[in-house]
Amino acid sequence: MSIKIENLTHIYMKGSPFEKKALDNVNITIDEGEFVALIGHTGSGKSTLIQHINGLLKPSSGKIVIDDVDITEKKINLNFIRKKVGLVFQYPEYQLFEETIEKDIAFGPKNLGLSDDHINSRVKRAMNMVGLDYENYKDKSPFELSGGQKRRVAIAGVVAMEPKILILDEPTAGLDPKGRDDILGKIKDLHREYKMTIILVSHSMEDVAKLADRILVMHKGKAILDGAPSQVFKEIDTLESVGLAVPQVTYLVRALKEKGIDISSDVFTIQQAKEEILRILKKC
Ligand code: ADP
Repeated sequence: MSIKIENLTHIYMKGSPFEKKALDNVNITIDEGEFVALIGHTGSGKSTLIQHINGLLKPSSGKIVIDDVDITEKKINLNFIRKKVGLVFQYPEYQLFEETIEKDIAFGPKNLGLSDDHINSRVKRAMNMVGLDYENYKDKSPFELSGGQKRRVAIAGVVAMEPKILILDEPTAGLDPKGRDDILGKIKDLHREYKMTIILVSHSMEDVAKLADRILVMHKGKAILDGAPSQVFKEIDTLESVGLAVPQVTYLVRALKEKGIDISSDVFTIQQAKEEILRILKKC
């Protein structure tokens, strides 16, 4: 189940004075089970790219092949894509509308034409996957919940479609620190326990450093950097030149290193920094 993006270009409002090339000959392959973070400044093309992967947008040129099927060809059945690729939009809780949580999560599977038993087991499984107790929550209104819980319901609605690939656009935007950690923990579980391929759009280098195996940096519609966090975070100058940065803790350890302290400059998370500092203290 790989995603092959080949020579993908997207031009909005082609031929009008507002013509805008949002994607410019993008070539990326994402393998099954990868956790990829997509980062870039506002307007760099991230949303346009992810909407191509779930078939909402069609390319101006180029193609996307998922599981050996070209999803950009005209005759493609959209249900095929919906079953493979789940997209959680920004602030997905704004799309909750049913009177109970159970009905809301059941909406997608129902549209797939599944039997009631199948729908029910998918709802239970999806709620379990995002950490919502079925019996406790099924009859509650989604509107009674906290921001973080509402977002879990919205994610469960996409997860209930049982996609192999899950794309999340800024899933922690607007949440408090606890809500943010909860959601990120659940996303990590979806990847580790349920083996989903994850594409996470994020502005937070701290989140990306903690979770992703691979980082793709977009700028002006092009993928300008692509590699493991340790590779991408070495490119401080390039990142800063496109309005991005490395994690705060990485600046700190690099400043310490410049002062002559024997610390690894490949530190991207607080946990890694803690381990490095303890290692240094042991030597003292
Ligand atoms: P990002 O998600 O990184 O913020 P987008 O994919 O939303 O970037 O936008 C890429 C470029 O395409 C931007 O210049 C943006 O203004 C433009 N754009 C996005 N959506 C549309 C649209 N529906 N019509 C015209 N231009 C758009």
